[in-house]
This record gives sequence, structure tokens and C-alpha cells, in this order.
Amino acid sequence: MDRGGHDRVIAVNDRASGLSGWIALHDTKRGPSYGGIRVWRYPNEATAMLDALRLSRAMTWKCVLAGVRGGGAKTVVLSDRIIDRPAAMRRLGEIVEQLGGIYRCGPDAGFVEADEIAITKTTKYFAHEAKSMRPSGQATSDGVVWGIRAALESLEGSDNLEGRTIAIQGLGAVGMPLAEKLLAAGCKVYGADINPEAVSHAESMGVKMVNPPDIYEVESDVFSPCALGGVLHDLTIQRLKTKIVAGAANNTLARPGHAALLASRSILYIPDFVLNAGALIEGVGNEQSGQTDFSAELRNIGTTVGDILVRAKADGKTPRDTAIMMAREVLSAEGSSSPQMEEEDEDSI
Ligand code: NAD
Repeated sequence: MDRGGHDRVIAVNDRASGLSGWIALHDTKRGPSYGGIRVWRYPNEATAMLDALRLSRAMTWKCVLAGVRGGGAKTVVLSDRIIDRPAAMRRLGEIVEQLGGIYRCGPDAGFVEADEIAITKTTKYFAHEAKSMRPSGQATSDGVVWGIRAALESLEGSDNLEGRTIAIQGLGAVGMPLAEKLLAAGCKVYGADINPEAVSHAESMGVKMVNPPDIYEVESDVFSPCALGGVLHDLTIQRLKTKIVAGAANNTLARPGHAALLASRSILYIPDFVLNAGALIEGVGNEQSGQTDFSAELRNIGTTVGDILVRAKADGKTPRDTAIMMAREVLSAEGSSSPQMEEEDEDSI
């Protein structure tokens, strides 16, 4: 906790329902801390806690760089320990409720609709998608498009999308509208998905689908991971035939050090926590102000990406390191003493 600068980490356990996991509140000083509930199979409690620590810290960076008044949090629940899932979610809701609103939770990987029905019985601090707002994937994909344009501008002096080739991994809530927007802008879009329904829908839109393992080797201007985290590692990075990696998937890199490996292959990696803030901007913004149009704020994701790339180039650092440094500067200007970590510390938390 000290190395990562975490404010509060809560172990949750309920023998009757089999609830077991962690709530990590990284920053509670900037307003409520925001972060989803991940229900996942972890080998042990220590690995689960590490995931909560990392994900909650990245949520703080995301809030800071997106200009969102709030801090980062994350809940992880060990899925294979659950005995009675609705009861486990109701118990988790009670714990969130006891926190009195300093933590606002929402869905994350492995969290299903039935979990939402159960948890909202015991807490009001679960963020629903507001009826007045569009689906979150629309906002997230808008942010990714602005980020891709800023990366192209930085690399090639033009943010024009027409004629660009983009390879999207995962045509889901974010990947599908992203493909739609890129096709409309005149891009050639390749895609891969393991879900046959997503494959046929994407094909009907004009996406050229390839087998999932082959997506890494599509020759493209941009590779956009929009499926799972941890997909870029020693083996997949060697297979990439792209100039830019810019996608929505959280924690795209298997380890932080993979940012340097991408740089050594002259591939420009845009940090996921900068690109995928669209849903956070719209969701929290709507909750805090009632406003429904956030197009200027989403466009700003492109401006932030541009600023990060200029500074990374000047400092000879990776865009990931620069983005984290910029987030830490804001935090320390606000009086938060976020510790400066060395790369090996980054890898060990
Ligand atoms: P989703 O579940 O709707 O879509 C993911 C898609 O990826 C699915 O169609 C799935 O079949 C496909 N997929 C899974 N494994 C695959 C593989 N190995 N190869 C190819 N395709 C595969 O999820 P989503 O909401 O679109 O989110 C995508 C990523 O973006 C996630 O990592 C999520 O955490 C992140 N994210 C999403 C949002 C949002 O607004 N939804 C916001 C921020 C970050």
C-alpha cells in the first residue's frame, strides 16, 4: 500500500456465501473513488490483492488525466470461492454501503447482470448507466478515435483517418462502435473476435474478420486491443506489424516493462488508461453535473494524448511513463504525496 500510495484496502470475507476478495481505494482525497467490481478466478488471495492494487492506482491516473474529480478504486472477488452468488453480492453491497459513498462501484470483467440485480438490493452506491445517456461503449470508442487521431498526427503529421488500416481485437461494447466510426471515416478495418455473433455482425458492417490468433500480424497503421488485458507480452509484441497500439482494453500490457519493448520495436504505445476514459468522463460527469453532452471533454482525450507524446519525445521516455509522471504532477500539486516509484517497483505492485 505504501509503495503504491493506496489510502485504504479492505479485505472482504463472508463464509456463508463464499464472498472473498478486496476493495482497494487508491485515492479518496479527490472526491469519491470510482472503480468496478471484477469477479475473476485468481490462484490465491495475494494475486487478487495485487490486481486490486494495480487496477485502483491506474483508475486514479485515469481520473486525473481525464480531468474527472475523483480517485481510483477497484474491487476484486475470487470467483471460484463463491458458494451463493446473489448472497455474496448482497453482502458485498452491504460493505460498500457502510463506506458511506466514498466508494462508487460499477461493473467490471466477470460481473454479470444478475450480480447488479443482487448488489443494488443492498447499496445505492452502484453506478447505473443513466437512461438519459448513450451506452458507455459509445463514449469510450469516441475517446479511442480521438486518441488514434492524435497518435497519427504525432507520428505522421496528419490526423486524417481516411485510407488508414486499423486492426481491432474484440468487437464488443467498445470495439463494435469503434469499427463503425472508423469505417465511416474511410478506414480499412480488420477485426477478430471469439464470439460468432460478433464476427457475423462485424462482417455485415464491412469489417474484414481474421482468426483471433492472426490479428497480431495484420499489417496496419494501428492495432487496437479492445478485448482483454494482458494481451501484449514478449511473444505477441514480436508478432505485431503495426506502427501504433491504441485500444480500450484495461492493462493491455502484461507487465509495465512491455512499454519499453514496444518502443524498442518503434511501435508507439498509447496508454490504455488515457484512451479509455470516455465512459468515466460521461458517467461521472453526468452524475456530478446532470450534463449530457461531453463531446468537448471526449475530444480532449486527443489533446492529452498529443501532450503526452510531445513530452515523451522531449524527455526520451515512453508515453506510459510520461503519462504516469503527468498524473503524479497533478496529484502532488493538489497536495497528494503519491510516491515516485522505480520501474522495478512498478512491476512488483
Ligand atoms: P465486451 O465484453 O463487450 O467486448 C469484448 C469483446 O472481446 C467480446 O466481443 C469478446 O467476444 C471479445 N474477445 C474476448 N476474448 C477475445 C480474444 N482472445 N480475441 C478476440 N476477441 C476476444 O467488453 P467491452 O465493454 O467492449 O470492453 C473491452 C475492453 O475495454 C475491456 O478490457 C474493458 O475493461 C475495457 N473498457 C471498456 C469500457 C467500456 O466503456 N465498456 C471502458 C473502459 C475500458
